[in-house]
Amino acid sequence: MIKGYAGRILEVDLAKRTFAFKPLDEETARLYIGGKGYGTRLLYDMTEPGIDPLGPDNPLIFATGPLNGSVAPQSNRFAVVAKSPLTGGIGNAACGGSFAYGLKKAGVDILVCKNQSAAPVRLEIDGDRDEVRFIDAADLWGKGTYETQEILGKKKHHAVIGPAGENLVLFAGIVSDERIAGRTGMGAVMGSKKLKAVTAYGSRRLEMEDPEAFKEYTKQIRAMFRDHPVLGGTLGAFGTGQIVNTTNARNILPTHNFKYGRFSQARKLSGEYIADHYLVGTRSSCIHCPVTCGRQVELEGVGVVKGPEYETLALMGANLEVGDVKKVAEWNYLADDFGMDTISLGVVLSFTMELQERGMLDAGVRFGDVSGVADLIKDIAHRRGLGDDLANGVKRMSEKYGGSEFAMHVKGLELSAYDPRGSFAQGVEYATTNRGGDHVQGASMYLESVGPFTINPRNLKLKADLPILQQNLACAINSMVLCLFTTYGIIP
Ligand code: SF4
Repeated sequence: MIKGYAGRILEVDLAKRTFAFKPLDEETARLYIGGKGYGTRLLYDMTEPGIDPLGPDNPLIFATGPLNGSVAPQSNRFAVVAKSPLTGGIGNAACGGSFAYGLKKAGVDILVCKNQSAAPVRLEIDGDRDEVRFIDAADLWGKGTYETQEILGKKKHHAVIGPAGENLVLFAGIVSDERIAGRTGMGAVMGSKKLKAVTAYGSRRLEMEDPEAFKEYTKQIRAMFRDHPVLGGTLGAFGTGQIVNTTNARNILPTHNFKYGRFSQARKLSGEYIADHYLVGTRSSCIHCPVTCGRQVELEGVGVVKGPEYETLALMGANLEVGDVKKVAEWNYLADDFGMDTISLGVVLSFTMELQERGMLDAGVRFGDVSGVADLIKDIAHRRGLGDDLANGVKRMSEKYGGSEFAMHVKGLELSAYDPRGSFAQGVEYATTNRGGDHVQGASMYLESVGPFTINPRNLKLKADLPILQQNLACAINSMVLCLFTTYGIIP
């Protein structure tokens, strides 16, 4: 087996409660690397067209790549792949945290969860004994992602769902530590299998082809990150919220359900403002990553929690016309605890507010008004009342209530936080990336509007070339399951 891989796929049948370790296919690994690439190949081979994404025939695939589990920076991530219940296409999402590390320590590159359990269950993968335990999870069902991980023990590495996944919210995600595989509803697929959590551990060591060269290269990459203006500077100091002021200045900060690209209170949502007024304690990081882009803020009655990242600040702040970071942090905490993608959630809320504004729906929530939002988030997570419709995403909502012309999605996936009218190549990305309205499968806005060097976002030059470059790059990075911020180091 090629070095870097553990060399094994673990297949679990949740209905029969059986498991089998199978060899990773070397040729497939050479062709598709791992993560999204290998996972998508497996999904393609294992499924027939037309299967129900929330039915037993949809496998849930957790996939790592050759660097995951190592000390290489930005490498401890995993991908989740399944048919998406939100888009009906190939779903995938990536997540930091520590689960990838646990999976590789257990000697597993890829975990395939087949079929559905009849009752709530959790898995423990013990790599030292080559054992998988199916443990009754009725006591955890209904609990949030934070409490679930607390109960399972902080020393082990978990991937869990919250009530949103259990209740099949179509944009539910899967959480590891404080990070989430948010997009395309992978948490709903996990919930459909009644799989509450997966815990993986072991003491296997990863072998590298040339350990000395790997050590030296890792040292060089760390030094390059340290000296990089974004990776070693602003990203650590201000988090991803550092780009709020930039996107606002460039007129691409979604505001009022993408009606405008500029928000009068943007400064109060910026990473710089958060650093000055709200940041507490140490900055947080995915395991072995020196960048520490995570924020920590204190919420009254809750304690120190993860601070909101750029997409959340933009879509649950500016896009709802709310300039109160504490409120956004509170909603972010709720969404993380319920296990929901804040990108889709933010756009669902802004779409609901626009329906309200136009008199097409009485949801009791309005732009610029924080009242009722937290309750609506809770209703979505539990599919209560109107929350049951909102839990289906904006495409399905617009089919029921109208407003398809202002339902901000592509292929059923709600748009990320960059208004394409001020970033034309990002518009091409939204139209062409294979999972829908997305910035992680193709991030042209970084070169056009956000990064230290920008290409004119409004003329037509490079508007096909940039997305091709970015999507090819993102595909390689997502198949290695590295953090997309790696591209900041590759492209100045
Ligand atoms: S840059 Fe941030 S998101 Fe990426 S791996 Fe490091 S801590 Fe995680």
